Amino acid sequence: ASGYTLLRDPRHNKGTAFTEKERDVHYLRGLLPPAILSQELQEKRLMHTLRQYQVPLQRYMALMDLQERNEKLFYKLLIDHVEELLPVVYTPTVGEACQKYGSIFRRPQGLFISLNDKGKILEILKNWPERNIQVIVVTDGERILGLGDLGCQGMGIPVGKLSLYTALGGVRPSACLPITIDVGTNNEELLKDEFYIGLRQKRTTGQEYAELIDEFMNAVKQNYGEKVLVQFEDFGNHNAFELLAKYRQTHLAFNDDIQGTASVVLAGLISGLRAVGGSLAEQKFLFLGAGEAGTGIAELIALEMSKQTKAPVEETRKKIWLVDSKGLIVSSRLESLQHFKKPWAHEHEPVKTLLDAVKAIKPTVLIGSSGMGKTFTQEVVETMASLNEVLSLSLSHTRAHTEANMTFFDVSLCIQKPIIFALSNPTSQSECTAEEAYTWSQGRAIFASGSPFDPVNYDGKTYVPGQANNAYIFPGFGLGLIMSGAIRVDDDMLLAASEALAAQATPENFKKGMIFPPFSNIRKISAHIAANVAAKAYELGLASRLPRPNNLVKYAESCMYSPAYRNYR
Ligand code: NAP
Ligand code: MN
Repeated sequence: ASGYTLLRDPRHNKGTAFTEKERDVHYLRGLLPPAILSQELQEKRLMHTLRQYQVPLQRYMALMDLQERNEKLFYKLLIDHVEELLPVVYTPTVGEACQKYGSIFRRPQGLFISLNDKGKILEILKNWPERNIQVIVVTDGERILGLGDLGCQGMGIPVGKLSLYTALGGVRPSACLPITIDVGTNNEELLKDEFYIGLRQKRTTGQEYAELIDEFMNAVKQNYGEKVLVQFEDFGNHNAFELLAKYRQTHLAFNDDIQGTASVVLAGLISGLRAVGGSLAEQKFLFLGAGEAGTGIAELIALEMSKQTKAPVEETRKKIWLVDSKGLIVSSRLESLQHFKKPWAHEHEPVKTLLDAVKAIKPTVLIGSSGMGKTFTQEVVETMASLNEVLSLSLSHTRAHTEANMTFFDVSLCIQKPIIFALSNPTSQSECTAEEAYTWSQGRAIFASGSPFDPVNYDGKTYVPGQANNAYIFPGFGLGLIMSGAIRVDDDMLLAASEALAAQATPENFKKGMIFPPFSNIRKISAHIAANVAAKAYELGLASRLPRPNNLVKYAESCMYSPAYRNYR
């Protein structure tokens, strides 16, 4: 190949970092200026350039250009500056990028499959240059972040998520395939926009929709085999639950909005409780919002409680209550509820408002997942704080202890602190701010949010709010599935991921109020999550990569993609 072609190949291009020898051997003389820069110096120069852009979208575009020019350098930047660059390649900036994707689209970063391609999806998959695909992130663009239906322009989401699979989870970029399925859009503005890049029609539903998705899922399995991971992302909730229920039976598939969110939030609860004392089963939960996030989290909590207490999940669900746009979900509403809400319809008289629900249910944990900002009002937070201020002493004896004809009591003493998670994105939609949560609870709340908040000073102390970002979980989760050759996703693997993440938060973190470990350690965190998920896959007989490696953490680390340049001879 000519030197010119090499410079145009993002996977192998090193730009000004090609050495004298490489320049000779690969016909690069004259195509590059004489100075030879190290990768570190290239990195420094690029960060300097990026920081000069004031507009976040400019940073996003500069990063996308870099990805198309020099892939290794792109990932080196992302890995070394994860806290700074995550908000650029992912939420919130990626949302703006999707809204403007029509005008920033340059080169294919993934596959577009539309209704017009019915009957030809397998052929389309074969047009992608890579054969050895390990992860697909797919969206139909109906519910992009908190931004609604962006149709075909949702492509920014699978592209962004997969760049995190590589940067945070170490999955090779060539093994990642972003896909957008275009079934139309109900977004009137896009339909009228002359620059819109998608099908100019209303979303198709029903049988036509189901058939297209089914053809896609079958083609994926036929082309890439049983071990390819399919992550569903940002589907509308009416489709999301159905697709998950159907394809988790036949494919290695999960839905990040339902299950990834659940896993990261459960991790926050486990480590939050480790910081304040008390067990999961001793808590009472109230959710504002009963959609993908709310019911997904609720179900995983119920499952973990059931594991811990050996009580059936039908029992543990009774400790969890949800409020939707019509009020508290109660049994008298059963008939008219969407099926994913039905398990949460407990016996209670109807309650209309969140405040009344807090007073009636008396939760110890309040979780916002409604997408509606400012709904955790001062009164709501103050009520949570006053409900949870008693010093509680709990005595319990366990069966294991009584077996020797003696009874021991486990004594746990804890000062109750309300746990308040405001998960709705973006920042403007957060149920309350970090400052409000700490101030209104007089510094007692254990707080985490979906969007990032700065540390808060209250009464002479600094509180660092947690960010329940799905990016903590899915890259390591996916790596664990891939490295064990898993063929199905089991809920126990999500629990394994939560436990691994929670275990990475240290007492030093807790002292500052942090229930999640800092993102700067994300590759180590991902390795631990991957190892725990893989261990569970082996335990359940769902792993096909045999023999099982002895040290799964080391093995996970050894699998991870390195962005360092290689020497070409
Ligand atoms: P969704 O499936 O559309 O569910 C939204 C739920 O909120 C529905 O149950 C809806 O009620 C309810 N709701 C809407 N307005 C309400 C109101 N005024 N009062 C009470 N309930 C109300 O959406 P989703 O996928 O679950 O996402 C919800 C939010 O969570 C979004 O803002 C998203 O950004 C955020 N999220 C955060 C994370 C994270 O922090 N890691 C992860 C995922 C999602 P009806 O059912 O009655 O319509
Ligand atoms: Mn999502």
